[in-house]
Amino acid sequence: MTEAAAPQPRPNVLAIPAYVPGKPPAARPDLTTYKLSSNENPYPPLPGVVEAARAAVAQMNRYPDMGGTALYAALGRRLGVPTEHLAAATGSVALIYQLVAAFCDPGDEVVYAWRSFEAYPIAITASGATSVQVPLAAGARHDLDAMAAAITDRTKVVIVCTPNNPTGPAVTQAELNAFLAKVPSRVLVVVDEAYLEFVRMDDAIDGLATYRAHPNVVLTRTFSKAYGLAGFRVGYAVAHEPVAAALRAITLPFGVSSVAQAAAVASLDAEPDLLKRVEALVAERARVVAGLREAGWDIPEAQGNFVWFPLGDRALEFAAACDEAGIVVRPFAGDGVRASIGETEANDRLVEVARAFPR
Ligand SMILES: *Cc1c(COP(=O)(O)O)cnc(C)c1O
Repeated sequence: MTEAAAPQPRPNVLAIPAYVPGKPPAARPDLTTYKLSSNENPYPPLPGVVEAARAAVAQMNRYPDMGGTALYAALGRRLGVPTEHLAAATGSVALIYQLVAAFCDPGDEVVYAWRSFEAYPIAITASGATSVQVPLAAGARHDLDAMAAAITDRTKVVIVCTPNNPTGPAVTQAELNAFLAKVPSRVLVVVDEAYLEFVRMDDAIDGLATYRAHPNVVLTRTFSKAYGLAGFRVGYAVAHEPVAAALRAITLPFGVSSVAQAAAVASLDAEPDLLKRVEALVAERARVVAGLREAGWDIPEAQGNFVWFPLGDRALEFAAACDEAGIVVRPFAGDGVRASIGETEANDRLVEVARAFPR
């Protein structure tokens, strides 16, 4: 008797790199510990948001509104875009998966900077598409010229992560315009704006104006970071109708739960308060970056709610020193460490650890 054949996933599935989630801190009897490893918002949800979510919980026997009517209407009003130009999903990570799945055949190429968001190679490999990683330039910035030069006949999608997770710098509108002028119109340009609300710089990109001017541009945004809804999984894309329609066509039916939809709508209503908190985080970021630079660290421009320590092969050692001080950061072995801007006490400890770290 021959051994029975077992079902085999497609070979690309076995090649999917693991997503390394930010570790939660271990409880310590001696001190309060903080999680600075996932770029989460340290503030609790605004009161109106909890109430809206609670009201939706009472309806859990019903399927969510598949059309996301209230959410699309609120976003459309807030952004000044037609609802047909929107596609919501379970976090903007889901939208990245959908974009690759909707636009790439197996073997088609997706160009993006590296190091950048670790979900990109996962989503691309999961679809059977091919990653083309373009090394970051000096200052841990996107090398948009090299990215444009990396486009081939097989390229279907290019991703621009701005600000770049995990390194921090954002591209300027002038840089993005020059890049878009070089990208063939048949190539979809994904502008991942997960940290948009934290950007404070001259010539910051205007994503909405950019998408309006370019039918091949899609913006991805999220309620996970500035809006503080990481646990509820809501993100959205803004694009011209053919792109948005493709995303909605392949999305998981009923993916965004009723509770998440209600919380997202309430968060948009609470936006003035949320943006005050963002302002406080931006001020903390400036304080942390100044403290680190004063201590002699070469910290790239930080436009998100995190800072990047370009530590090379000492990344794990630095992360261990942070652990010791009761703060958990996100090391990328052999490359660097990303630390989120969190509670004031946590930020203070981060600067202290960095000051004391022997270099
Ligand atoms: C956090 C993050 C996202 C979105 O995460 P979701 O929680 O899935 O919305 C997207 N892109 C980047 C670069 C991120 O850092």
